[in-house]
Formats: sequence, C-alpha cells, structure tokens
Amino acid sequence: MPADIPTSVGTLTQEILTTPVGRFAPSPTGDLHFGSLLAAMASYCDTKSQYGLWLLRMDDIDGPRSVPGSADVIQQTLEQYGFSWDGPVQWQSKRVDRYQHAVAELVARQRVFACKCSRRTLPLGKIYPGSCRVNTVAIKSPPTDYYRADHSLRCTLSGQLKFTDAVQGVQNIILEKDVGDIIIWRRDNLVAYVLACAVDDAENVSHVVRGADLLGNTAAQIAIMQALDLPVPRYAHIPVAIDANGDKLSKHSKAQSLASMQPLPMLLSAWQVLGQAELQATSITDFWKQAITNWQTPCVPGVQCVST
Ligand code: GLU
Repeated sequence: MPADIPTSVGTLTQEILTTPVGRFAPSPTGDLHFGSLLAAMASYCDTKSQYGLWLLRMDDIDGPRSVPGSADVIQQTLEQYGFSWDGPVQWQSKRVDRYQHAVAELVARQRVFACKCSRRTLPLGKIYPGSCRVNTVAIKSPPTDYYRADHSLRCTLSGQLKFTDAVQGVQNIILEKDVGDIIIWRRDNLVAYVLACAVDDAENVSHVVRGADLLGNTAAQIAIMQALDLPVPRYAHIPVAIDANGDKLSKHSKAQSLASMQPLPMLLSAWQVLGQAELQATSITDFWKQAITNWQTPCVPGVQCVST
C-alpha cells in the first residue's frame, strides 16, 4: 500500500473527529417563527464560525402531533432565509430501532421501570415521586416486549449533575429533586423526546445550541447519555422570544410564520436580539458572510426571554 494512504486517511479521520457539528432540530408540527429563527441562526453561526458542519434534523417521532407538509415548508423556509445544511436531512422516525436499542441497554443496566401512573394520579407540576420504581423491567427478548399500552417506561435518575452552558452558565442539578425519573418510552408506544434527542445529539452532534425553554430537559438528556456511556455535547441555551403579551412564541400559540415575512429584515432583527454587533448587510448572502465572520457566542444575552 502506498505510504501516503494511511496518513491521508488518518488526517481525514482526525479532521472529522475535531470538526464541530451543530444542528437545528425542528418538530414538523407547524411553520417556523421568529423564535425558531433565533435558534437556527445561533446554532448555524456558532458552528459555521468554527468551520463546522450544521445538520438539519426533523424531530418527527410524535406522529400524532406532526402536521402533514410541515417538514417541506420548514426546509423551504430555511432555504428562503439562506441556511444550508450539510448532508441529507435526518429523520428521527427512521431511527426507532436505535432508540429501542438504547432502551434495551438501559434495561440491561437496571435503569428502567414500568410506570402505570397517569397524569391524573400524579401531583400536578411536581417532580415524579418514584412511585413505580419497584417495577424494574427485566431483560426480555425481543426488546419490543418492553412496550405495553398499560404503562410507560421510566429511567431512574439520581445523583448530582453539573454542566456549564455557554450562555446560561454553570448548572448544578440534583437529579432526583430537580428532574425525577423521566419517561423514555410513552404508553402510546412512542419514544419520548428526551431519549430520542439524547441519543441523536450524543451520536451525531458536538454543539447543541437551542432555546432556553429546553434548558430544563438538558440535565435529563446528559444523564441518559452518561447512563449509555455516550459522549456529551457542549450546550448553549439562547433566550426565548416572547410576544407583546409575554407569551413564548411557539407554533402552538400561532406565532406569525417566518415564510410570510421578509427574510433580510428578520435576519437583521434576530441578529440584534442575539446581542451581536451591528451589520450593514444589503442581501441575504451578504448577511451570512458577515454574520459567520462576526458571530460571538459570549455576546448572546443570558436572560431567558427577549421581547420581539
Ligand atoms: N424538536 C424540538 C422542538 O422543535 C427541539 C429539539 C431541540 O432543539 O433539542 O421544540
């Protein structure tokens, strides 16, 4: 074998291993809004300013909530705003086997129990009290035998967890008090968002940049990654956009669709909300060129809400 082949393969592997990988992970449950633009922009700039890769992942595991055609509109809107993602779009719905495998691994580590509690029987807004912990799930084969309509599967979480968020600072979490045992598989036989997201981020992403409304999920996701011996990405949680009434912009609250707005003014306005130094861009291409060069994560405001 020519002497240069192992070297070039080695260099390539090294580059892939050290290239930052970010992602935008919308759920196809409606159109993107200004809050989505903040998350997409912050993640895109964070990754691209470090010469990294930016993935687009459709969090389409919740079939009943998915809106037909929404994934297409989301992709068109991102293109309209000048985003481009690396590689094909990733679909969570195509990775259900992987999530089942993760559940089987957690079962093997005696971290899973069957929970028959319902929303009605649990104290509202409180941390799960651990009532069903005794129902530890034993290893079964095939792993689809873990799922039954009369229970969800929860993963035991305990101990302390500390991580530093690049925007929100040091987070000290006591898992049983602040998070509780979380549902990893729903009784309607769907993987829970927390597990799917933890597995995907750990396996494919090095830098997670997203809205601060998801900060509360992060400790559970890190705990799952650690329980599965998966690598933990770096996190940055950016402020969440609120409307004039103080409500978080969301697809649910019928926030105005980005697709119906002028991209350049919206890009400039998102840039400003993200605390970045003023740009003089006259086109979308020009905006992104300047944005990627000038992006500064430390300038993103730490406050969890910003009014639009
Ligand atoms: N799919 C989630 C959503 O649209 C976001 C997931 C994430 O960024 O971790 O709210």
